[in-house]
Amino acid sequence: MSIVDVKQIVENKKVKLKREILDLRDKGIVPKLAVILANDSDASRVYVGRKRKLCHELGIEETEYLFDEKVTTDNILKVITKLNNDPEVDGILVQLPLFKHLDESRIIDSIVPEKDVDGFSAINVGRLYQGKDEIVPCTPKGVLTILKELEPELKGKNAVVVGRSQIVGKPMAALLLNENMTVTICHSATTNLPEHTRTADVLVVATGIPHLIKENMVKEGAIVIDVGMTRVKEKLVGDVDTENVEKVAKYVTPVPGGVGLTTVYSLAENVVEIAKNRKK
Ligand code: NDP
Repeated sequence: MSIVDVKQIVENKKVKLKREILDLRDKGIVPKLAVILANDSDASRVYVGRKRKLCHELGIEETEYLFDEKVTTDNILKVITKLNNDPEVDGILVQLPLFKHLDESRIIDSIVPEKDVDGFSAINVGRLYQGKDEIVPCTPKGVLTILKELEPELKGKNAVVVGRSQIVGKPMAALLLNENMTVTICHSATTNLPEHTRTADVLVVATGIPHLIKENMVKEGAIVIDVGMTRVKEKLVGDVDTENVEKVAKYVTPVPGGVGLTTVYSLAENVVEIAKNRKK
């Protein structure tokens, strides 16, 4: 029935976050993000560019460490050790994917949990599953921000998450469980996907399969969050057949201009939350 105005949600949130950053700066704390980019993907450069732009707009300092394909895992570990020990660096972000020869989990897990701004390290993943969601991965965190704007009472409702990746599906399900929702996780081996998706009051879809979710797979009045983003003939397409799903759902998020915006915003929020802990 209604396409969610995610841009407006983010603009409203930014006002409050900017104020918090000014307060920190008044106390002599300049929130700072360090970004490590070690791949040659154009998409990663675009994502890093968006993060840089938002940091600059909000007053977060951002430094980038760029590596070419000659870089070794040890080279990156050395930089991370330096950043871990730098009291002026709040968040360390390793832009994924990395060059194939690099040891991704060793690199991610070398970031001290307190600065792991993406929440991907084993310790922060474990904390999320323990219900101590201190640093939450940005995409699921952004989805929760949207949901809280749309539905004040998530507790007790049915959530279905389609997709179980480490960066979206699994942390998303954990986060919704922490909100006391009843959560079902679907994936490529799920039999009869529509039977599950039709039980969802909140349906979060993150598969990368364009228009996987059709009108007949959605419960009347559901909130549908489309995380998917696939380039099809120069256009970004989501996992939801929005034009038709819109007829039955209460809310659907658009692609582009949806979850992508809250993902970048949540990164800034995570940096600021970490910077606030610097005071203590
Ligand atoms: P992955 O490829 O890592 O995971 C896809 C998931 O979808 C897997 O768990 C897979 O199941 C599941 N899946 C595949 N086919 C089906 C099917 N037919 N029915 C049910 N489940 C299925 O992708 P990501 O989680 O990294 O990303 C998903 C999408 O979200 C992509 O389009 C990506 O571009 C987008 N994305 C958007 C972001 C944003 O900020 N807007 C951020 C991150 C991602 P199985 O595990 O069994 O293989």
